[in-house]
Amino acid sequence: MPELRDAIARSLATRGVRATAENVVVTPGAKPALFCTALSLIAPGDEVLCPDPGFPIYESVVRFAGGRPVYYPLDETREFAPHVEAIAERITPRTRVLILNVPHNPTGGVATARDLAALADLAQRHDLWVISDEVYGQIRYDGRRDSIAALPGMSDRTVIVDGFSKGYSMTGWRLGYGVMPASLTDAMTTLIINNVSCTATFVQYAGIAALMGPQDAVTRMVAGLRAKRDLLVRGLTAIDGISCASPAGAFYCFPDISGVLERTGGGLTCKSFAERLLAEQHTAVLAGTAFGPGGEGHLRLCYATEPAELERALAAIRRLVGALDRAPVRTA
Ligand code: PLP
Repeated sequence: MPELRDAIARSLATRGVRATAENVVVTPGAKPALFCTALSLIAPGDEVLCPDPGFPIYESVVRFAGGRPVYYPLDETREFAPHVEAIAERITPRTRVLILNVPHNPTGGVATARDLAALADLAQRHDLWVISDEVYGQIRYDGRRDSIAALPGMSDRTVIVDGFSKGYSMTGWRLGYGVMPASLTDAMTTLIINNVSCTATFVQYAGIAALMGPQDAVTRMVAGLRAKRDLLVRGLTAIDGISCASPAGAFYCFPDISGVLERTGGGLTCKSFAERLLAEQHTAVLAGTAFGPGGEGHLRLCYATEPAELERALAAIRRLVGALDRAPVRTA
């Protein structure tokens, strides 16, 4: 609907991006926007720079489009901000796209303004497209709201992927969008029309209401998430063998539990730790390796839940760590 595309285009001003309805394609969730962008931009044999750890869908869509994912590392010592040099040294003549995800799933990391400027410079020098996944853009604790697409020369080579699942908690409504140069919207629209036709009309009206209505619910949610983040990071770092950077965005933290795993004498990996936490303590977390090999030794915890649940989860992790210290190798 033109009204929704227009509301989305206007909402981009908060991140410094100038766009019109002509630049916006509405999709049933951010995932279809990502999928169709990948199909529009990637030709067989193209290399695509993807974060490791990172949202696993990037690898799937890049491979589906015939491309080759090339992983760039993110690490805790830099609070999981994209590392410009590490990205630069992976660029080859076949590199076509850089995928950025700020704030980042699974780590909650963000890019500094300097990183974004350096990445914009890289993209222009090497003639790269940037897919900027900004679905967590409203959930930031550093007060910033930015986008690489706002930097000079970048709106012509950036596709912003975004949606209503996170900032407005509308995950099940399936509403997302892509913002791109007008030259790309025809290809994207063709893919959407031939695939899902469109996004349900009444859901599009809900999107207009979300964007145009008061935003105090989002502000309240982010303040609540900040308190939950602090509770969880404090509790995790108090456990011997666990370190955890305090994430600047999204609602995940990504603790390094390798100190605990080492005490098991190699008996456990982050995956088997997560499995035991579920089986024995009824607490669900994801192993860091669910997000790529760079997640080894880590867990991903989602704190978009009640503080009492987080207290229970912390107690469960403490109990499992205590049990492992008493009997590092499982005998049952
Ligand atoms: N991008 C990232 C980084 C995500 O974490 C998610 C959902 O988990 C999505 C995109 C997809 O969001 P949607 O529900 O709008 O398809």
